[in-house]
Amino acid sequence: MPPRHRLHRLITAEREQYADSHPGSRALFAEARHLIGGVPMTWMSKWSGGFPLYLAAAAGATVTDVDGHHYADFALGDTGAMAGHSAPAVTAAISRRAIEHGGITAMLPTEDAEWVAAELTRRFGLPLWSFSLSATDANRWAIRLARLVTGRRKILIFSYCYHGSVDETFAILDDEGAVQTRPGNVGPAVEPADTTRVAHFNDLESVRAALAHGDVAVIVTEPALTNIGIVLAEPGFLDGLRRLASEHGTLLLIDETHTLSAGPGGMTAAESLQPDLVVLGKSIGGGIACGAYGISERVAALLDERVSSGTADLEDVGGVGGTLAGNALSTAAMRATLSEVLTEQAFTTMTGLADRYTAGVRATIDRHVLPWSISQLGARAEYRFTAPAPRTGNAAAAAADPELDEYLHLYLANRGVLLTPFHNMALMCPATTAAQVDLHTDLFAAAVAELFGD
Ligand code: PMP
Repeated sequence: MPPRHRLHRLITAEREQYADSHPGSRALFAEARHLIGGVPMTWMSKWSGGFPLYLAAAAGATVTDVDGHHYADFALGDTGAMAGHSAPAVTAAISRRAIEHGGITAMLPTEDAEWVAAELTRRFGLPLWSFSLSATDANRWAIRLARLVTGRRKILIFSYCYHGSVDETFAILDDEGAVQTRPGNVGPAVEPADTTRVAHFNDLESVRAALAHGDVAVIVTEPALTNIGIVLAEPGFLDGLRRLASEHGTLLLIDETHTLSAGPGGMTAAESLQPDLVVLGKSIGGGIACGAYGISERVAALLDERVSSGTADLEDVGGVGGTLAGNALSTAAMRATLSEVLTEQAFTTMTGLADRYTAGVRATIDRHVLPWSISQLGARAEYRFTAPAPRTGNAAAAAADPELDEYLHLYLANRGVLLTPFHNMALMCPATTAAQVDLHTDLFAAAVAELFGD
């Protein structure tokens, strides 16, 4: 463990430097009187240093704040900007759509939607797709479809997962193995245990026990947890999930919102997973709001039966759908992102950069013989203050060290590098450069040297 007295001294110095060198951001935050929490979205207050940086401009993998500082941006909007900020192909497509042709949202389809769906089929294998404006909504609607076609009420999730603000997913397992509401759950309508069964990631026995009740419509999971640090699936775990789901008449939903970093078809393609439903969001619109869910042939057939027998209203007020979903601007952005930016070639480059990033961090961890670890998932990597890397969400949650997070985030931000605020995650985009990766490597080494001494 780091020497706490030294850590506290370093944090104080970094906080002072952050406040002194960002007077513009500090003043804008202080003057915001009509925003809940002082920010446009409450989680924006989670940046280290007491106030967020205010954005002036961003291009590719570089962000500029209102004080004129430039940053190598490894946060990339927590994946929303995985295609890079304002990728030229995306800005050209949205300006063509919005300005040249005109028409941002009209409740009428454009031909881009079918192109995007066909491309998602090519990448993920599922034959039918529908759109939303966020991964949260894609998850919500896909879960409704799963409950409809199976006739079961509950879902199964993994302790400390995150799938957006989906009510049923805010549950954890306590030390006795009981389902509890996740700490901080805001205004739950019902006890999560009423809607949700919870298992431990990488623990097929806990999955089997939860499914044995026979009431689970769908397993909702990322193919690696990415929102409590990265928790990679151990060999055989994802295949085991598929097998157990099939044995128990339960569907398998793979949420690829973050794990798209594994390649053009996410982990679904990379690991030949056989999901019944896939959810995507954030990145595939190049920064424009979007989300998507895909369904298998079998789910589509069951859905047809339920809808044609009149038990569900899929077209109007049945609980699946949003007025702006699949709008012309969003689908134009997705088409440009998938056809020109997040291509196979781009993933090769991004993964190579993440390899370089991971090797750089590992070298520092090894040099100081720290009990820390780094996990990589294609174009994404994250360090944790525990080793070996945690294998469950509960273990990952227990390893959190908010003071170390703050120190490293501030040390890096004060010297021109941004990490994802909620954790120590770094993502590469097609515009990320080796020089930016090396800047992080050098700063990480320097920050650790100041903490532990060389
Ligand atoms: N699924 C996963 C795996 C996520 O990480 C997130 C957001 N971090 C979401 C869904 C929700 O995305 P959004 O907030 O854009 O709806």
